Amino acid sequence: MLGTLIVQGIGKNSVMAIKVRSLIAIKKSPFQEIIVADVEEFGKALILDGYLQSTVADEFIYHESLVHPAMILHPNPKRVLIIGGGEGATLREVLKHNMVEEAVMVDIDKDVIELSKEYLPEMHQGSFFNKRSKVVIDDGKNFVEKEIKRGAQYDVVIMDLTDPYSSEIAKELYTKQFLEKISMILVEDGVFATQAGSRFFYREVYEDVANAAKNVFKYVAEYQVWIPSFGYSCNFIIGSKNFDTKILLNHENVDKVLRLRGVETRFINGKRIAAMLSMGIY
Ligand code: SAM
Repeated sequence: MLGTLIVQGIGKNSVMAIKVRSLIAIKKSPFQEIIVADVEEFGKALILDGYLQSTVADEFIYHESLVHPAMILHPNPKRVLIIGGGEGATLREVLKHNMVEEAVMVDIDKDVIELSKEYLPEMHQGSFFNKRSKVVIDDGKNFVEKEIKRGAQYDVVIMDLTDPYSSEIAKELYTKQFLEKISMILVEDGVFATQAGSRFFYREVYEDVANAAKNVFKYVAEYQVWIPSFGYSCNFIIGSKNFDTKILLNHENVDKVLRLRGVETRFINGKRIAAMLSMGIY
Protein backbone atom coordinates (compact mmCIF):
# COMPACT_ATOMS: atom_id res chain seq x y z
CA MET A 1 0.00 0.00 0.00
CA LEU A 2 2.83 2.43 0.80
CA GLY A 3 3.67 4.74 -2.08
CA THR A 4 1.02 2.97 -4.09
CA LEU A 5 -2.24 4.40 -5.24
CA ILE A 6 -5.72 4.19 -3.87
CA VAL A 7 -7.88 3.84 -6.91
CA GLN A 8 -11.15 5.58 -6.09
CA GLY A 9 -14.01 4.42 -8.30
CA ILE A 10 -15.75 7.50 -9.70
CA GLY A 11 -17.80 6.32 -12.66
CA LYS A 12 -18.27 2.92 -14.25
CA ASN A 13 -15.27 3.58 -16.47
CA SER A 14 -13.36 6.26 -14.59
CA VAL A 15 -11.25 6.31 -11.47
CA MET A 16 -9.25 8.77 -9.42
CA ALA A 17 -5.86 7.59 -8.18
CA ILE A 18 -4.50 9.05 -4.96
CA LYS A 19 -0.99 8.31 -3.69
CA VAL A 20 -0.79 6.74 -0.22
CA ARG A 21 1.70 8.24 2.24
CA SER A 22 1.04 5.69 4.99
CA LEU A 23 -1.47 3.05 5.90
CA ILE A 24 -2.92 3.75 9.37
CA ALA A 25 -5.45 0.97 9.82
CA ILE A 26 -7.15 -1.73 7.80
CA LYS A 27 -9.94 -4.05 8.92
CA LYS A 28 -12.45 -6.34 7.24
CA SER A 29 -15.67 -5.91 9.18
CA PRO A 30 -18.72 -8.15 8.65
CA PHE A 31 -20.02 -5.39 6.34
CA GLN A 32 -17.10 -3.84 4.46
CA GLU A 33 -13.36 -3.41 4.15
CA ILE A 34 -12.32 -0.38 6.21
CA ILE A 35 -9.10 1.51 5.52
CA VAL A 36 -7.77 4.59 7.27
CA ALA A 37 -4.79 5.94 5.33
CA ASP A 38 -2.76 9.13 5.10
CA VAL A 39 -2.83 10.17 1.44
CA GLU A 40 -1.09 12.86 -0.62
CA GLU A 41 -3.00 16.15 -1.12
CA PHE A 42 -5.81 15.28 1.34
CA GLY A 43 -4.26 13.92 4.54
CA LYS A 44 -6.06 11.26 6.51
CA ALA A 45 -8.87 9.48 4.68
CA LEU A 46 -11.57 6.91 5.39
CA ILE A 47 -12.06 4.38 2.59
CA LEU A 48 -14.82 1.76 2.58
CA ASP A 49 -14.78 -1.08 0.07
CA GLY A 50 -12.42 0.95 -2.08
CA TYR A 51 -14.63 4.05 -2.10
CA LEU A 52 -13.19 7.15 -0.50
CA GLN A 53 -15.70 8.43 2.09
CA SER A 54 -14.03 11.53 3.48
CA THR A 55 -10.66 13.19 3.97
CA VAL A 56 -9.47 15.62 6.62
CA ALA A 57 -8.66 18.19 3.92
CA ASP A 58 -12.16 18.65 2.54
CA GLU A 59 -14.73 16.70 4.60
CA PHE A 60 -16.10 19.96 6.00
CA ILE A 61 -17.45 20.89 2.55
CA TYR A 62 -19.40 17.64 2.34
CA HIS A 63 -20.65 17.43 5.92
CA GLU A 64 -21.66 21.09 6.21
CA SER A 65 -23.47 20.91 2.83
CA LEU A 66 -25.32 17.75 3.90
CA VAL A 67 -26.40 18.97 7.34
CA HIS A 68 -27.03 22.70 7.51
CA PRO A 69 -29.58 23.38 4.74
CA ALA A 70 -31.95 20.76 6.22
CA MET A 71 -31.33 21.87 9.81
CA ILE A 72 -31.96 25.52 8.89
CA LEU A 73 -35.13 24.63 6.97
CA HIS A 74 -36.59 23.30 10.23
CA PRO A 75 -37.37 26.17 12.66
CA ASN A 76 -36.58 24.26 15.83
CA PRO A 77 -34.83 20.90 15.32
CA LYS A 78 -34.61 19.33 18.78
CA ARG A 79 -34.48 15.62 17.90
CA VAL A 80 -32.34 14.59 14.95
CA LEU A 81 -31.69 11.12 13.52
CA ILE A 82 -28.55 10.40 11.49
CA ILE A 83 -28.47 7.13 9.54
CA GLY A 84 -24.87 6.22 8.71
CA GLY A 85 -22.24 8.91 9.19
CA GLY A 86 -19.67 6.52 10.66
CA GLU A 87 -16.80 8.99 11.03
CA GLY A 88 -18.88 11.22 13.34
CA ALA A 89 -18.59 14.42 11.26
CA THR A 90 -22.31 14.59 10.41
CA LEU A 91 -23.03 14.21 14.14
CA ARG A 92 -20.50 17.01 14.81
CA GLU A 93 -22.30 19.37 12.45
CA VAL A 94 -25.79 18.55 13.81
CA LEU A 95 -24.67 19.23 17.39
CA LYS A 96 -23.58 22.77 16.40
CA HIS A 97 -27.28 23.80 16.40
CA ASN A 98 -27.79 24.86 20.02
CA MET A 99 -31.43 23.79 20.24
CA VAL A 100 -30.65 20.13 19.43
CA GLU A 101 -31.55 18.12 22.53
CA GLU A 102 -30.79 14.67 21.16
CA ALA A 103 -28.86 13.52 18.09
CA VAL A 104 -29.24 9.78 17.45
CA MET A 105 -26.67 8.28 15.07
CA VAL A 106 -27.34 4.77 13.75
CA ASP A 107 -24.54 3.04 11.87
CA ILE A 108 -24.49 -0.61 10.85
CA ASP A 109 -20.76 -1.01 11.42
CA LYS A 110 -19.26 -0.58 14.87
CA ASP A 111 -15.78 -1.07 13.43
CA VAL A 112 -16.10 2.12 11.35
CA ILE A 113 -17.05 4.03 14.48
CA GLU A 114 -14.30 2.49 16.64
CA LEU A 115 -11.59 3.12 14.01
CA SER A 116 -12.88 6.67 13.48
CA LYS A 117 -12.88 7.31 17.24
CA GLU A 118 -9.24 6.25 17.41
CA TYR A 119 -7.72 7.48 14.15
CA LEU A 120 -9.98 10.32 12.91
CA PRO A 121 -10.43 12.76 15.84
CA GLU A 122 -10.20 15.62 13.33
CA MET A 123 -13.52 14.43 11.89
CA HIS A 124 -15.63 13.56 14.94
CA GLN A 125 -14.03 16.24 17.18
CA GLY A 126 -15.50 14.47 20.19
CA SER A 127 -19.08 14.32 18.84
CA PHE A 128 -19.41 10.66 19.82
CA PHE A 129 -18.88 11.62 23.48
CA ASN A 130 -21.22 14.62 23.58
CA LYS A 131 -23.95 14.17 26.21
CA ARG A 132 -26.61 14.96 23.57
CA SER A 133 -25.32 12.17 21.30
CA LYS A 134 -26.74 8.65 21.25
CA VAL A 135 -24.79 6.23 19.04
CA VAL A 136 -26.62 3.04 18.03
CA ILE A 137 -25.11 0.11 16.13
CA ASP A 138 -27.83 -1.25 13.85
CA ASP A 139 -28.93 -1.45 10.25
CA GLY A 140 -30.80 1.77 9.52
CA LYS A 141 -33.64 -0.27 8.05
CA ASN A 142 -34.15 -2.25 11.28
CA PHE A 143 -33.78 0.82 13.46
CA VAL A 144 -36.45 2.82 11.60
CA GLU A 145 -38.84 -0.16 11.71
CA LYS A 146 -38.41 -0.28 15.49
CA GLU A 147 -38.89 3.51 15.78
CA ILE A 148 -42.15 3.26 13.81
CA LYS A 149 -43.39 0.53 16.18
CA ARG A 150 -42.64 2.62 19.27
CA GLY A 151 -44.02 5.83 17.71
CA ALA A 152 -40.74 7.72 17.89
CA GLN A 153 -40.67 11.09 16.13
CA TYR A 154 -37.80 13.21 14.83
CA ASP A 155 -37.67 16.80 13.57
CA VAL A 156 -34.89 16.09 11.07
CA VAL A 157 -33.58 12.81 9.59
CA ILE A 158 -30.24 12.88 7.75
CA MET A 159 -28.93 9.94 5.71
CA ASP A 160 -25.17 9.88 5.38
CA LEU A 161 -24.73 6.43 3.88
CA THR A 162 -22.34 4.88 1.41
CA ASP A 163 -23.37 5.73 -2.14
CA PRO A 164 -26.55 4.24 -3.61
CA TYR A 165 -24.47 2.48 -6.24
CA SER A 166 -21.36 1.46 -4.30
CA SER A 167 -22.42 -0.87 -1.55
CA GLU A 168 -25.15 -3.46 -1.12
CA ILE A 169 -25.68 -2.62 2.56
CA ALA A 170 -27.08 0.85 1.87
CA LYS A 171 -29.00 0.32 -1.38
CA GLU A 172 -32.45 -0.39 0.07
CA LEU A 173 -32.41 2.81 2.14
CA TYR A 174 -32.48 4.95 -0.98
CA THR A 175 -35.89 3.62 -2.07
CA LYS A 176 -39.42 5.09 -1.97
CA GLN A 177 -40.47 2.33 0.39
CA PHE A 178 -37.82 3.28 2.92
CA LEU A 179 -38.31 7.04 2.53
CA GLU A 180 -42.02 6.45 3.29
CA LYS A 181 -40.92 4.82 6.55
CA ILE A 182 -38.65 7.79 7.26
CA SER A 183 -41.66 10.05 6.70
CA MET A 184 -43.55 8.06 9.37
CA ILE A 185 -40.96 8.89 12.04
CA LEU A 186 -40.77 12.55 11.01
CA VAL A 187 -42.97 15.07 12.84
CA GLU A 188 -45.65 16.88 10.80
CA ASP A 189 -43.17 19.61 9.83
CA GLY A 190 -40.21 17.25 9.54
CA VAL A 191 -37.27 17.64 7.17
CA PHE A 192 -35.19 14.91 5.47
CA ALA A 193 -31.78 15.14 3.78
CA THR A 194 -29.53 12.64 2.09
CA GLN A 195 -26.36 12.51 0.07
CA ALA A 196 -26.92 10.67 -3.22
CA GLY A 197 -23.46 10.24 -4.75
CA SER A 198 -22.82 11.48 -8.29
CA ARG A 199 -25.72 12.21 -10.65
CA PHE A 200 -23.21 12.89 -13.44
CA PHE A 201 -21.66 9.43 -13.31
CA TYR A 202 -24.72 7.43 -12.16
CA ARG A 203 -27.64 9.36 -13.62
CA GLU A 204 -30.25 6.58 -13.51
CA VAL A 205 -29.44 5.57 -9.94
CA TYR A 206 -29.53 9.21 -8.85
CA GLU A 207 -32.85 9.92 -10.61
CA ASP A 208 -34.41 6.90 -8.87
CA VAL A 209 -33.41 8.39 -5.49
CA ALA A 210 -34.64 11.88 -6.42
CA ASN A 211 -37.95 10.49 -7.72
CA ALA A 212 -38.38 8.46 -4.54
CA ALA A 213 -38.01 11.68 -2.51
CA LYS A 214 -40.42 13.55 -4.82
CA ASN A 215 -43.00 10.79 -4.31
CA VAL A 216 -42.79 11.05 -0.53
CA PHE A 217 -42.21 14.72 0.30
CA LYS A 218 -44.25 17.77 -0.73
CA TYR A 219 -41.19 19.98 -1.14
CA VAL A 220 -37.91 18.64 -2.57
CA ALA A 221 -34.70 20.48 -3.40
CA GLU A 222 -31.68 19.05 -5.19
CA TYR A 223 -28.23 20.60 -5.06
CA GLN A 224 -24.62 19.64 -5.48
CA VAL A 225 -21.15 20.72 -4.48
CA TRP A 226 -17.70 19.84 -5.75
CA ILE A 227 -15.72 17.69 -3.33
CA PRO A 228 -12.05 17.70 -4.45
CA SER A 229 -11.19 14.31 -2.92
CA PHE A 230 -14.25 12.65 -4.51
CA GLY A 231 -13.29 13.80 -7.99
CA TYR A 232 -16.90 14.78 -8.66
CA SER A 233 -19.75 17.02 -7.52
CA CYS A 234 -21.65 15.27 -4.76
CA ASN A 235 -25.44 15.44 -5.03
CA PHE A 236 -27.75 16.14 -2.10
CA ILE A 237 -31.53 15.93 -1.79
CA ILE A 238 -33.72 17.63 0.83
CA GLY A 239 -37.34 16.62 1.38
CA SER A 240 -39.83 18.50 3.54
CA LYS A 241 -43.46 17.95 4.46
CA ASN A 242 -44.30 21.55 5.24
CA PHE A 243 -41.48 23.95 4.52
CA ASP A 244 -40.93 25.15 0.98
CA THR A 245 -37.20 24.76 0.35
CA LYS A 246 -37.30 28.18 -1.34
CA ILE A 247 -37.03 29.57 2.22
CA LEU A 248 -33.32 28.71 1.94
CA LEU A 249 -32.85 31.17 -0.90
CA ASN A 250 -33.10 34.09 1.54
CA HIS A 251 -29.41 34.25 2.39
CA GLU A 252 -29.74 37.07 4.95
CA ASN A 253 -32.28 35.03 6.90
CA VAL A 254 -30.14 31.89 6.67
CA ASP A 255 -27.12 33.76 8.04
CA LYS A 256 -29.30 35.12 10.86
CA VAL A 257 -30.47 31.62 11.77
CA LEU A 258 -26.90 30.30 11.78
CA ARG A 259 -25.84 33.21 14.00
CA LEU A 260 -28.76 32.82 16.44
CA ARG A 261 -28.09 29.10 16.74
CA GLY A 262 -24.38 29.59 17.34
CA VAL A 263 -23.43 27.55 14.26
CA GLU A 264 -19.88 28.22 13.09
CA THR A 265 -18.92 26.83 9.70
CA ARG A 266 -15.91 26.78 7.37
CA PHE A 267 -17.81 26.55 4.11
CA ILE A 268 -21.58 26.91 4.40
CA ASN A 269 -23.24 30.34 4.66
CA GLY A 270 -26.42 31.91 3.38
CA LYS A 271 -25.03 32.94 0.02
CA ARG A 272 -23.50 29.53 -0.68
CA ILE A 273 -26.72 27.68 0.19
CA ALA A 274 -28.70 30.05 -2.01
CA ALA A 275 -26.13 29.62 -4.80
CA MET A 276 -26.16 25.81 -4.56
CA LEU A 277 -29.97 25.68 -4.63
CA SER A 278 -30.18 28.24 -7.44
CA MET A 279 -27.54 26.48 -9.51
CA GLY A 280 -29.42 23.20 -9.11
CA ILE A 281 -27.94 20.07 -10.57
CA TYR A 282 -26.37 19.22 -13.93
N1 SAM B 1 -19.27 10.61 3.97
C1 SAM B 1 -19.48 9.42 3.15
C2 SAM B 1 -19.81 9.86 1.77
O1 SAM B 1 -19.23 10.86 1.41
O2 SAM B 1 -20.57 9.26 1.06
C3 SAM B 1 -20.52 8.52 3.74
C4 SAM B 1 -20.52 8.57 5.24
S1 SAM B 1 -20.14 7.20 6.13
C5 SAM B 1 -18.55 6.75 6.02
C6 SAM B 1 -21.13 5.96 5.36
C7 SAM B 1 -21.64 5.09 6.49
O3 SAM B 1 -22.84 4.41 6.12
C8 SAM B 1 -20.65 3.98 6.91
O4 SAM B 1 -20.19 4.23 8.22
C9 SAM B 1 -21.46 2.69 6.81
O5 SAM B 1 -21.14 1.77 7.84
C10 SAM B 1 -22.88 3.23 6.93
N2 SAM B 1 -23.95 2.37 6.41
C11 SAM B 1 -24.03 1.76 5.21
N3 SAM B 1 -25.17 1.06 5.11
C12 SAM B 1 -25.86 1.25 6.29
C13 SAM B 1 -27.12 0.80 6.80
N4 SAM B 1 -27.91 -0.01 6.08
N5 SAM B 1 -27.49 1.21 8.03
C14 SAM B 1 -26.70 2.03 8.77
N6 SAM B 1 -25.48 2.48 8.35
C15 SAM B 1 -25.08 2.08 7.12
